[in-house]
Amino acid sequence: MEYAKNRTQMLAPQERERLGDEASALQDAELLADRLAEATPHQIIEAAKAVPGRLAVVSSFGTESAVLLKFVADVDRSLPVLFLDTLWLFKETLTYRDALAGHLGLTDLRVITPSPSELALRDPKRDLCFHDRNACCALRKVAPLARELAEFDGWISGRKRFHGGERSSLAVVEAEGRRLKFNPLARLSSAELNAVFTKERLPRHPLEALGFTSVGCIPCTARPAAGASARDGRWSGLAKTECGIHNRELTASNGAR
Ligand code: SF4
Repeated sequence: MEYAKNRTQMLAPQERERLGDEASALQDAELLADRLAEATPHQIIEAAKAVPGRLAVVSSFGTESAVLLKFVADVDRSLPVLFLDTLWLFKETLTYRDALAGHLGLTDLRVITPSPSELALRDPKRDLCFHDRNACCALRKVAPLARELAEFDGWISGRKRFHGGERSSLAVVEAEGRRLKFNPLARLSSAELNAVFTKERLPRHPLEALGFTSVGCIPCTARPAAGASARDGRWSGLAKTECGIHNRELTASNGAR
């Protein structure tokens, strides 16, 4: 303990400030997660808005995204919605993004793309995804989102516990470095999600009718086998289950390798 204290005192002032921010984000996340454990998605979004600082929503405009975006629009249509275009997306996703944003009246949709110079340097033949998917996700997803999130203090994601894997124990609020991350749909079941689609008459992603239950980039998305879990069509046959934006602290300096 004494060593840690002395070591902290030796750090540069900016680094001490950063560590202080991270410790306080962790403490805030634990308190909020406890307080919001039984809260509704709308209440969680309201609570996220009430935290001082700039807040964004991150959405893939995938097969389940309409539910989170509907709840966000109910609370505040002007919240910035960040959409990562990896330049490997299905044209149906881009069409759906524009239609859904218009349907819900979202007024601040921000499309984020990978850095052209980084693409030219690290993926000049556009084949990185076929031999190093982690590097490809780092280049096309993690780094661009980290750059965009630099101006925000908190963000909202649409992950749910019923997706399984690392998401099974998802907290309603998490700390990610100095930022808070809110997961308003964490407790929602698949049946509840579908009930919102029906009740609110939300448009479906066009590829869902063709058997895709989770839609990401073209090279890494497949139709799952009947009865498989929703995300089984992502990185099918590989150990990879996440792109990386939820697995590490997003800072502008990480992501690119
Ligand atoms: S999901 Fe596939 S194509 Fe998309 S960024 Fe990751 S590895 Fe690349």
